Amino acid sequence: MGSVIDFTQCPQCGYEKAYYDYYYKSGERFTICTRCGYYHAIQLVKDSDEIEYVTEERICIAATQATMKNNPTKILGGVKTKKEMREFRKSVKKDRETIAIAELRYKKDDEWIIEDVLTGEIRLFDDVL
Ligand SMILES: [Zn+2]
Repeated sequence: MGSVIDFTQCPQCGYEKAYYDYYYKSGERFTICTRCGYYHAIQLVKDSDEIEYVTEERICIAATQATMKNNPTKILGGVKTKKEMREFRKSVKKDRETIAIAELRYKKDDEWIIEDVLTGEIRLFDDVL
């Protein structure tokens, strides 16, 4: 199904390059912030004859980004709690043989950073998507 990907300003952190994915046929739309993990979706739900739109919003404390070794597609996500953050780190380390890149992106001491979960390295967030 066709979609238009654009950028929008993240309502949570103000980042101007949050993804905005609009499916023009179904009217579904998704906002995903790769800096703070904010997620907003308006999704079509077909329940028998009724067509309904369901809105979901996730306020996150960190964005996650992962790429598997056998598939270059970036998997974008977010974690809502410190517990989920720890679980993300744990599952990445467990599956490190199959993961090419795994990052946590969050604000620390007033600066947006990217934590490489596999190496433990931390760098400043830049506009590289
Ligand atoms: Zn954001």
